[in-house]
Amino acid sequence: MSLSALVDLHLHTTASDGQLSPTRLVDMLAARGLRVAAITDHDTTAGMEEALQAAHRYPALTIIPGVELSTDVPGGEIHLLGYLSNYNDPHLQDALRRFREGREVRGRRIVEKLAELGMPIEWERVRELAGDGAVGRPHVARAMVEKGYVSQIPEAFTKYIGRDGPAYVERLKLTPEEAVRLVVETGGLPVLAHPAEVAELDTVLVSLKAAGLVGMEVYYAQYPAPKRSRLAEAARRHDLLPCGGSDYHAFGTPEEAAPGDLGPPLELAEELMRRVGMRLPTRGQ
Ligand code: AMP
Ligand code: ZN
Ligand code: FE
Ligand code: FE
Repeated sequence: MSLSALVDLHLHTTASDGQLSPTRLVDMLAARGLRVAAITDHDTTAGMEEALQAAHRYPALTIIPGVELSTDVPGGEIHLLGYLSNYNDPHLQDALRRFREGREVRGRRIVEKLAELGMPIEWERVRELAGDGAVGRPHVARAMVEKGYVSQIPEAFTKYIGRDGPAYVERLKLTPEEAVRLVVETGGLPVLAHPAEVAELDTVLVSLKAAGLVGMEVYYAQYPAPKRSRLAEAARRHDLLPCGGSDYHAFGTPEEAAPGDLGPPLELAEELMRRVGMRLPTRGQ
């Protein structure tokens, strides 16, 4: 795939369910010529210091600290990205710690359900695959691949651990409005992630905008152009910044988009950065 974007505002590392360490991801971002990238791990900012440290070696690359929060709506979930001006905010970090604990409890219960379905995996192995990071279903899926129960991570979701699967288990989540307010309270910018999956999008956007939503993903690498056009329209209608990125996890599946395959224009990134009190390095320095 040809490199087309200078900006990627949705990326995961080993701090959650991505498979590249923050340093290796940053090396890849620099090698691919990205200028602005946001690291948005699930329920943790633990990768941020390493990423910012690694980015010191690349003056042309700016890293925006971020996070991805999963929230609960009837019959589904909505993901919110937060671009953070103060990721060490104690109230935010307390909330993230509670969500990570909820992930542990839920992960153990999924493992129990899989055993009942005749597919035993070791919780210790799942924990090991997650390393120091926030444990997620992709780690469970990798343990299932290792045992040969499925051949790839997506198959584990479709057959067993996806929302309608027999081993699915809920976990502690906020409502989307609560998550928006949590990000706003820290001085961060809440942005709706992969909105094509959201039912009743216009209604949700009105409610989240009232809570403080500032943007929504439009340039989402997994969406074809017609879908992106419809989302761009929605962003305009609701006066939301059109954001986006690859949602790269380094899962290694053939269909996975790479960092920089698609993203918003540099001007959009500069606007976001201005609002969190950051700015791009002056050219030529
Ligand atoms: P969790 O945060 O533990 O609920 O797991 C959700 C994560 O699993 C998402 O953020 C994706 O990284 C991944 N995921 C969800 N659905 C799929 C799927 N169908 N195929 C592969 N990965 C998925
Ligand atoms: Zn993920
Ligand atoms: Fe997501
Ligand atoms: Fe994501």
